Amino acid sequence: MADHYEVLGVSREATPDEIKKAYRRLARELHPDVNPGEDASERFKLVTHAYDVLSDPEQRQRYDMGGDSSPFGGAGGGFGGFGDVFEAFFGGAAGGRSGRPRSRRERGQDALVRVTLDLGDVVFGAHRDVEVDTAVLCDTCEGSCCQPGTQPVTCDICHGAGHVQRTVRSLLGNVVTSQPCTTCQGYGTTIPYPCGTCAGQGRVRARRTVSVDIPAGVETGLRLQLPGSGEVGPAGGPNGDLYLEVTVTPHEVFSRDGDDLLATLEVSMPDAVLGTETTIESLDGPVDLEIRPGIQAGDVLTIKGRGITPLRGGQRGDLRVGVHVVTPTRLDAKQRALIEDFAKKTKAPAPHLAEFHQGLFAKLRDRFRNG
Ligand code: ZN
Repeated sequence: MADHYEVLGVSREATPDEIKKAYRRLARELHPDVNPGEDASERFKLVTHAYDVLSDPEQRQRYDMGGDSSPFGGAGGGFGGFGDVFEAFFGGAAGGRSGRPRSRRERGQDALVRVTLDLGDVVFGAHRDVEVDTAVLCDTCEGSCCQPGTQPVTCDICHGAGHVQRTVRSLLGNVVTSQPCTTCQGYGTTIPYPCGTCAGQGRVRARRTVSVDIPAGVETGLRLQLPGSGEVGPAGGPNGDLYLEVTVTPHEVFSRDGDDLLATLEVSMPDAVLGTETTIESLDGPVDLEIRPGIQAGDVLTIKGRGITPLRGGQRGDLRVGVHVVTPTRLDAKQRALIEDFAKKTKAPAPHLAEFHQGLFAKLRDRFRNG
């Protein structure tokens, strides 16, 4: 007669948890369904009996004091607890003696809709009416799933429990398992007269228009969450959420840099030399710009507060306009003579390497080039 502790491979001081773990490990290895060998079957019986005794505090105490010497049918032992055996083996999943019927009402699924915005929408925010294919509450039954005037009735088969006990013959003898009732799908009730409009689902497919205010400052890839604007759940369950995924189309003139807008201003050589005034068309409308005499290629003119409103609020960024001086490329003889004369009179230095500019403007120029 093997010692129960030895059979399970645990010490005499093993905790109930350690005993349970040891039993599960052995049961997985030796269960007749897994291991059809004769020896395995015998060992499984021993292991199971050892577990039955040691998992019951009273029996374990008695065993420790020298009781229960017979492997089966001993004092209060034997295969008393099939449920316990199966619970230990399946981690309680097949136990199912507790558990309530499940609800027909479930949360609806989330939905994703894509919206395309231009840069103006990003600067000022936008309003969109988006069409969503979704599920809405059934008008006829208002989510009850039943024909008006009728109600669900308690399931005949499971009597409202939502699950049924099934007795399965196995090498262990008869084992009772609990399974969802197939008649009511585990709901515990059946619907004798399903609503004709929604076929007893409590909701119908529909195309819905959702009005959305899109805040300023969004960017491509951002998902806006609209809680409760997704589809309604089965049987009138709560709505899921609607997600709006944003794509911003590139603008011909302006690009974005954080909360700032960037643009390039082409200035002719004479205007760069002499200075001038001009009006540019920003996303906010016309803005007057002063080109100071002697402005350099790469200089940046900053127009405060004409950038993007940050998504989380706060002050608008700036519009930064980088100067690009356009060198004349086709000169007639007279123009050429003028420039040559100018060069002679100014004694401009020959081209030469300058100190490397690592200042702000050099960086900005790089950004313009890359962006
Ligand atoms: Zn209905």
